[in-house]
Amino acid sequence: MNRILIFLENGENRRLLAEALSVHYQVLVADSVVQAKQALPLLDEPFDLCILDGVALNHLWEWAQAKKQVEQPIFLPFLLVTPQANVNLLTRQLWQSIDDLITKPIEKLELQARVEMLLRSRQLSLRLKSANEQLQKEIAERDRAEAEREVAIAALRENEIRFRRLVESNVIGITVAGTSGEIIDANDAFLDMVGYTQEDLQAGRIRWDEMTPPEYQHLDRERVQEILSSGFFTALEKEYICKDGSRVSVQLGGALLEESQQTMICFVLDISDRKRAEAETQKSLAREREINELKSRFVSMVSHEFRNPLNLISGFVQLLERQGNQLSLDRKAEFFKRIYDAISKMRKLLEDVLIFGKTESANLAFNPAPLEIVPFCQKLIEDIKLSSPANSTLIFTQAGECQIVECDSTLLSYILTNLLSNAIKYSAADSPVHLHLCCQDGAVTLQVKDEGIGIPQEAQEHLFEAFYRANNVDSIPGTGIGLSIVKQAVNLHGGTIDVVSEVNVGTTFTVTMPIHSRAEEMCVNSPPSPNEIM
Ligand code: ATP
Ligand code: MG
Repeated sequence: MNRILIFLENGENRRLLAEALSVHYQVLVADSVVQAKQALPLLDEPFDLCILDGVALNHLWEWAQAKKQVEQPIFLPFLLVTPQANVNLLTRQLWQSIDDLITKPIEKLELQARVEMLLRSRQLSLRLKSANEQLQKEIAERDRAEAEREVAIAALRENEIRFRRLVESNVIGITVAGTSGEIIDANDAFLDMVGYTQEDLQAGRIRWDEMTPPEYQHLDRERVQEILSSGFFTALEKEYICKDGSRVSVQLGGALLEESQQTMICFVLDISDRKRAEAETQKSLAREREINELKSRFVSMVSHEFRNPLNLISGFVQLLERQGNQLSLDRKAEFFKRIYDAISKMRKLLEDVLIFGKTESANLAFNPAPLEIVPFCQKLIEDIKLSSPANSTLIFTQAGECQIVECDSTLLSYILTNLLSNAIKYSAADSPVHLHLCCQDGAVTLQVKDEGIGIPQEAQEHLFEAFYRANNVDSIPGTGIGLSIVKQAVNLHGGTIDVVSEVNVGTTFTVTMPIHSRAEEMCVNSPPSPNEIM
């Protein structure tokens, strides 16, 4: 309910006015201003309209102005009750303190109308103030939201700058890609990795699904499922097929871009070096395993091959010791020969083991020197003949004028001794063995040919592995070392060795070494000059 404060000097007027107004309003009536000397208790009371007469206004105009001031911008109305003659006496200040006046004698209806107008104006100003406050609040809210948006935009811009910097730093390959295979954007680090250009990218020629080899595509499918359900995918290792068809090993991680369900950002690392190092390690491990296996094969071979001749020697020595006196000279000589054969077999084995040990530790010396190769071959054949069965036939032929060649004679003797003794060992006793020498086109070719048991097809690729023996050797003795030594000796000369063989037909080993002969001629057209040794 609106409160009306009344300051009137005349007590009767106060009463009448209060009576008329208290029907609709709460009325506070003050005592005589003159008598109270401004010590009025109601001055601090809140009110919505003050009705006062000229005397009261004269005393209270400062209070009235202060009250109005405090209420600003709300309208606090003051209504002056005045006998008409008095109006001219009002000063400018007093006018500023009042909002309306009503002249005596006061008509009830007019009073009602003026009071109602003033109170309504106050109510309006009150509503206006609260609307204004609401508006201010909304403006403040909007300003705050705007400020927040600007901060967010600035943060976004900063993020974008940082992201661009990361992309353009090219420390790591970065792509923006669709989940169905397209590459929308990529930095140079990625493009360099796979050998494509920005032009290829712009032309839509790069798709990650097409760059992925078939064996990795199931991994891609898994990761797409993962990223669609969780927003990111766990790192994976795979390969990309580069523009030139080569492959690059990569490690890949990625996440969905926030604003889209189909676009992801992927980080790609070239791990080719690491993969190569891993492969090297695997190779070294395999080599180590091979060496261990070789060692154990070697130990079992040596113990087996040494035990036989040792048993034989100790058997014959015991026989000679116990029954030496009773044996005939021929019998004794036969026993001694068996002992010497066993000893020379052991000596040969020891020599082979020694050479083999050198080849395995890469310590086999290579000392090329000028060599007259024809007499060298002839002498070697004679030596082999001495240690071979009596009816062996060795045929030496040569083409061209092979005279002095630059080669390592020790290694050459390993090559020829092993090939020729194999040819004899794996052939019937009376079967011929051929050694053909040819010097042509800056290379020396040595061909050893027999008509023996031959080598099964499946064994041919393993012949040069240490301790390997084909399954058709039956009881023919051997350790499987010879050809691995031959191979190393040929390698040291920078040459090659080939084999052509058929079971029960025969075998031909061909050694070609790039050794320059000083009197070299064409071999093909010149007929071989047989040089039969036996
Ligand atoms: P050793 O170490 O005493 O020479 P080996 O003759 O068995 O023993 P290699 O000379 O290395 O060993 O030969 C390997 C295998 O190749 C032989 O065991 C044999 O199976 C096969 N081989 C080699 N030369 C011939 C050949 N001329 N005819 C048939 N088989 C052969
Ligand atoms: Mg051999």
